[in-house]
Amino acid sequence: MKRLTGVAASPGTAVAPAYVHRPDVYEMPEGPVDDPDRAVVRLGEALEGIAAGLEGAAVVVSGAPGDILRAQAAMARDPALRAAATEAILGGEQPSRAILEAGERFARQLEETGNEYLAARGPDVRHICDLTARALVGAPPRVSPHPVESCVLVADDLSPADTATLDAALVRGLATAAGSRTSHTSVVAQGLGIPAVVGVRGLLDSVEHGQLIGIDGTAGEVVIDPDHDAAEKLAAAGAAHRIRRERLRVVGGTGPVTTADGHRVEVAANVGSVEELRAALAEGAEGVGLLRTELLYIDRDRPPTVEEQSALLGEMHALLGSRRLLVRTFDIGADKHVPFLPVRPERNPELGLRGIRLGRAHPELLDDQLRAIAATASLGPTALMAPMVASVDEARWFVERARGAGIPSSVEIGVMVEVPALALVAAELAGYVDFLSIGTNDLTQYLNAADRRDPDLAPLLDAYGPALLRIMNLVCRGATGRCWVGVCGEAASDPAWALLAVGFGVTELSMQGVAIPEVRAAVRRATLEGCRRAAALALRAIRPEDARMIARELMEVTT
Ligand code: PEP
Ligand code: MG
Repeated sequence: MKRLTGVAASPGTAVAPAYVHRPDVYEMPEGPVDDPDRAVVRLGEALEGIAAGLEGAAVVVSGAPGDILRAQAAMARDPALRAAATEAILGGEQPSRAILEAGERFARQLEETGNEYLAARGPDVRHICDLTARALVGAPPRVSPHPVESCVLVADDLSPADTATLDAALVRGLATAAGSRTSHTSVVAQGLGIPAVVGVRGLLDSVEHGQLIGIDGTAGEVVIDPDHDAAEKLAAAGAAHRIRRERLRVVGGTGPVTTADGHRVEVAANVGSVEELRAALAEGAEGVGLLRTELLYIDRDRPPTVEEQSALLGEMHALLGSRRLLVRTFDIGADKHVPFLPVRPERNPELGLRGIRLGRAHPELLDDQLRAIAATASLGPTALMAPMVASVDEARWFVERARGAGIPSSVEIGVMVEVPALALVAAELAGYVDFLSIGTNDLTQYLNAADRRDPDLAPLLDAYGPALLRIMNLVCRGATGRCWVGVCGEAASDPAWALLAVGFGVTELSMQGVAIPEVRAAVRRATLEGCRRAAALALRAIRPEDARMIARELMEVTT
């Protein structure tokens, strides 16, 4: 028996024989290239062929896998990647080797940025370079795994083509040597509800095809050849996970959520793709409280057209029916860059040209997005908000711009409260907007002057800290009687914290789909009066531990 650890990518456990997927190796020509100019042309043709092939495949694959294929097509057309390989070819390198080496350098650069999202793109770059090298040497395309019996699929990494064809009835779990929590394998595994552990070092050297393997996607553990006890433990943990989720789904119920004393609190989902929306609806989402539209712009060599954006919104409305779709205009900037907008060197990108600031600098981009939202507003209840607004004037500018672009009066327009300066003028702001949505991820980072992506600073970013709780209270007091207040930051996923928010006056909570059953259940068991009392007590706490204890006690009383 051997235990390995990795990143917990999708919760649950599985024990089954390993299906080890090893891509075949192919020969590459040795020695210097004969005709560098011709080789550069062949490289260009191969990259374009790969890009076109990926785009073609994306047409028939919906949701996250389709988005990933499109993003990879854009990478294959990245001029910087091509230029790096071209330079090596002109220096005498064989084109297949040149593209693999350039890809490896690019992938490492992405992985070393320390940014979770960009790092997760590293394996995508390697994948398209592998496809290109195969095309250049005439090797057969990489074969996707096709298990015929129940298994845990083990691989170095899985390409979108591999994951797009996964049979969830046979693949009980996934374990990969590469990958992070936001890599495509993780996203797809979560969407399909398959337990997964990724980023497991030494995985392929430790497991044979057919060998029994257990994975714990909640703890991030892989057990190769588990003994009887370990296998039983994994099976029991898997059963407990399923029962707990089932129980929460039952307690959380379906349909509109109210507290035990009849106070309405909407529990919605944060999504970035149709796939995520589908999964969130299955968890009991009442609608979408945050559509992160910037994901449509990232990894592309030109902005999405009005038609492309309308198609995505239309698909989401079709799934949502009479449930609301709250669209956030693109939050590009900071760590989310788009290849088609020149990057201005910034000393502090998190404090720089991002969100609505970028929208004001490129109004044509914002107007296109507003037009797509206006064009689809008749398909279902729609709301609209802007990220990173810092002043009442900016909020008023946004509302006027949106109405000017044709957003009908049936669409509520609000702003995110992520910048402390805006929170402090909530009462005045509330007179100009229909709602405020508190983005606790950024609001906490700016309140505490602590980078939200730096794990070493996590203690400073505690959502139970007095600054966040007091400013939330201030925002809710300011908005009372003027507009409604929601929360769409990660903090809303914590059921105990969510009850404090309800106590402050928040009437909409939006979170990742997987957290929905637990928050639904917590709200349904609590009373508004209890939430208010706990919130008033938590407001007096000056240490996060004390506020957390107050919230947890409220949860226990109601469980
Ligand atoms: C937030 O800041 O809380 C938020 C929801 O926005 P994002 O996480 O996309 O920055
Ligand atoms: Mg934010």
